Amino acid sequence: MADNDDLLDYEDEEQAETPAVDGAADGAQRKDVKGAYVSIHSSGFRDFLLKPEILRAIVDCGFEHPSEVQHECIPQAVLGMDILCQAKSGMGKTAVFVLATLQQMEQLSDNQVTVLVMCHTRELAFQISKEYERFSKYMPQVKVSVFFGGLPIAKDEEVLKSNCPHIVVGTPGRVLALVRNKKLNLKNLKHFVLDECDKMLEQLDMRRDVQEIFRNTPHSKQVMMFSATLSKDIRPVCKKFMQDPMEVYVDDEAKLTLHGLQQHYVKLKENEKNKKLFDLLDILEFNQVVIFVKSVQRCIALAQLLCDQNFPAVAIHRSMLQEERLSKYQEFKDFQKRILVATNLFGRGMDIERVNIVFNYDMPEDTDTYLHRVARAGRFGTKGLAITFASDENDAKILNSVQDRFDVNITELPDEIDLSSYTEGRRCGFGRTLRRFPSR
Ligand code: ADP
Repeated sequence: MADNDDLLDYEDEEQAETPAVDGAADGAQRKDVKGAYVSIHSSGFRDFLLKPEILRAIVDCGFEHPSEVQHECIPQAVLGMDILCQAKSGMGKTAVFVLATLQQMEQLSDNQVTVLVMCHTRELAFQISKEYERFSKYMPQVKVSVFFGGLPIAKDEEVLKSNCPHIVVGTPGRVLALVRNKKLNLKNLKHFVLDECDKMLEQLDMRRDVQEIFRNTPHSKQVMMFSATLSKDIRPVCKKFMQDPMEVYVDDEAKLTLHGLQQHYVKLKENEKNKKLFDLLDILEFNQVVIFVKSVQRCIALAQLLCDQNFPAVAIHRSMLQEERLSKYQEFKDFQKRILVATNLFGRGMDIERVNIVFNYDMPEDTDTYLHRVARAGRFGTKGLAITFASDENDAKILNSVQDRFDVNITELPDEIDLSSYTEGRRCGFGRTLRRFPSR
């Protein structure tokens, strides 16, 4: 039966992130919401004529105004239109498809999956399923399940048999395994969603899986795809799955940068990285930090080193058992740990609100990766700081190409950084003495 080979996670260890877009500005009134740099419209979610139970959940989430991408896409999405949408990282793409699909749920029947959302990593699938739970809080009849590899498939099969969800979120390997063994029936599907769609369709093995799953769904359905990066090459591939979609792109790549984010580099030798990192962690006021490295081995070693120095660090990488991966993610999300050392596995899509500093301990391998990674700070227009270590000529080349491609000025890290430039008003860090765990 489905074994681990069928349950690939698809995350490319050496691949990183992308930036985000925020639908074309149309001159509508702008105002600050969560962060100082988010453009929003004067309209509220009420104008989308969503169901009262959804509006209540939106209020509970503390969302006051839709972001531009939400303003642009939700009215079309709730009408069932196909949507291909590029928008800046952290600007609320998830809520577009979550709200639009919940809004369209009518007369739920048992044993019928009507919404399928797929993405490229297990943690992201988990995060999206939590968003569904948040927004369907006042729709108790709606059932959501998340399926991904690394955990026993028998459990998923049991859920499908005894308590079939209306909404399935998952990674393609596991979803396909469940479709092939006839445990997951997609014949009643009404909405097919791909998050980080470029990542999912660029890799041929993943694209094949997505296509096979797609072929098991009815012809008539809504298809929505989202990413912060949608190259011109991948757009026609996405559109093959769609019928006359509404298309939202950020054609001026310069606009993909996050304006709340201060970006600096430090020139140093490879063997100076640890000392510099520790010094900076001592000096900077961080709420939560993500440190990106280029390999699993380095991820494990650096996290260990941080723990040895009494820094509260966790590591997440693809070589961990799935249960452990999820529990580490949850620890970080729940603010029990302040420092996460990660590979590119964590580079895309992950939304941890309290992260205000990202380190590129190792240089990302390309400009997309740089943008996706640093966007883990500065979510939804909040302030943040990205510090990149550059240790050789190749690193310098990549940094230069980031600056050539995007409208961003990455400067050398100054001796002192104004706290207010990367924290939101309140002091977000903890004092120097509390920064580390007390030694035992
Ligand atoms: P994206 O998918 O575009 O990268 P997310 O969907 O992860 O972005 O959203 C980023 C963060 O912004 C999340 O924490 C989300 O809860 C929050 N958010 C989304 N929309 C709004 C809104 N209208 N008002 C306030 N916060 C929002």
